[in-house]
Amino acid sequence: MITQVADILYPQIDREPAPTVVPVGVDQDPHIRLTRGIAHKMRMFTVEERDGYISVRSKNAPEAALDAVKKAFPHAKKYEGHVDIKGAQCADVAAKVREIERAHGGFAFYTPSSTYHIFMPGLTGGKMSSSIPESIISFYETEAVVRKKVMSGITGGRMTLEEQKRLGGEPDKCSIFLLNLFHMVTDDNELAEIKHKCMAGEVTCGQCKKNTAERVVAFLKDFREKMDACQDRIVV
Ligand code: SF4
Repeated sequence: MITQVADILYPQIDREPAPTVVPVGVDQDPHIRLTRGIAHKMRMFTVEERDGYISVRSKNAPEAALDAVKKAFPHAKKYEGHVDIKGAQCADVAAKVREIERAHGGFAFYTPSSTYHIFMPGLTGGKMSSSIPESIISFYETEAVVRKKVMSGITGGRMTLEEQKRLGGEPDKCSIFLLNLFHMVTDDNELAEIKHKCMAGEVTCGQCKKNTAERVVAFLKDFREKMDACQDRIVV
């Protein structure tokens, strides 16, 4: 677990403290919470907005750092373990305090934030993995291979066409629908239409997969052109 904490915080040590957003699955939430706790604990100061003033509170800051905070703001008063500042914006104080903390050997971490994402299965239904080539679509695959992989994807379709028309498909269990949901269709109305037609049995999985394959082919063509256009800017 601690290696993940290090992974998340390292860029703020390697370069400089910066707001950090980490996209994770819900199961990774404990790692994020631990990282946030450690990042906060390793700060020398907390900066709190109070009624009419900003309080910079020392957690384990050396006295010289606290003195530097007082010196940095004309209307600051130093007390035992904290400096109170009037007439300043909280964001400005926070930025200056971070600078002072770094100058006195601290990390001055921004507490990382996270966004939560649901698990997207591969085209074969299980985990996406490069060791199962059918489960993924690579950036430089040929059109023919892309079409073949999409057409072979696990769907939420019924066993027979009659059942599909009568019961409709199950898009939430379908790797093709999820591919559209996550990557191929950005318009919510279009996505809702795909889902509706599936559940109402108004489209066959074959046709739906063909439509999806066209989207993937077009997406990859555009993506590859953009990648090629910026190749010379990539430093490895
Ligand atoms: S119609 Fe499309 S979304 Fe519905 S189950 Fe078949 S492939 Fe999936």
